[in-house]
Amino acid sequence: MRLAGKIAIITGGGSGFGEGIVRRFVEEGASVVLMDRDEAAASRVAGEAGDKVRPITGDVSTLESFVAAADLARSAFGGLDILVNNAGVAQPPLPLETMDEGLFDRIANVNMRSIYNGARAVVPHFKSIKSGAILNVASTGGVSPRPNLTWYNASKGWAIAATRAMAVELAPFGIRVNAINPVAGDTPLLSTFIGSGEENRARVVATIPIGRLSTPQDMGNAAAFLCSDEASMITGVDLNVDGGKCI
Ligand code: ADP
Repeated sequence: MRLAGKIAIITGGGSGFGEGIVRRFVEEGASVVLMDRDEAAASRVAGEAGDKVRPITGDVSTLESFVAAADLARSAFGGLDILVNNAGVAQPPLPLETMDEGLFDRIANVNMRSIYNGARAVVPHFKSIKSGAILNVASTGGVSPRPNLTWYNASKGWAIAATRAMAVELAPFGIRVNAINPVAGDTPLLSTFIGSGEENRARVVATIPIGRLSTPQDMGNAAAFLCSDEASMITGVDLNVDGGKCI
């Protein structure tokens, strides 16, 4: 029960890595506000997880969504201790000069602006209680980019840089900020990066020394640790959850 009594907002908890993080947090004793723009997905996960999870429909590219989630955390559970910025969008492989502005804006708004919005919504509260943990879900692409995913990879590199900058500013207030870098995962997002089919999948697995894709459970385990008091001396890190890919 690493997170007993803790109250968390987890964005994008309706699917994939976020769903794994929600489930793990509940197992570890946390109460969770699950914010997702997909209402049905949020309700499904919340329904399966029981009364420790409250779903809310919201878009991480807007500040209001985070404010509403923080309000729900306080009204439903009586506080807020943790923010997990997990919701993200992927891009298909593209030569970098061919990405249109619409997709670029979506990547910037969901993968980058979300971290800014989340910070604006929760940091005043975290400062008032002199504690708090923020976890940003970045990507191995942010540290070890491959060709043709440049703007996605750059957005994740920004998330890692933001994690470090936030950590150094917020440490004196008792607030920790960390990131995890998932390698390609067994989630619906994967097909955006690599298309479908067993052959594509096998090609990706072959680049991961441990010999498998990552799972939502892997991310849940790492996230629970970094957001728990066990990690009270750890801030500003980006932890590769990558089966050795970035070695
Ligand atoms: P991953 O592999 O990163 O877990 P998924 O596509 O499986 O990717 O899950 C991402 C989750 O984030 C989905 O439930 C999706 O609805 C949610 N999401 C995506 N964009 C937003 C957004 N702008 N605001 C809130 N939730 C979002």
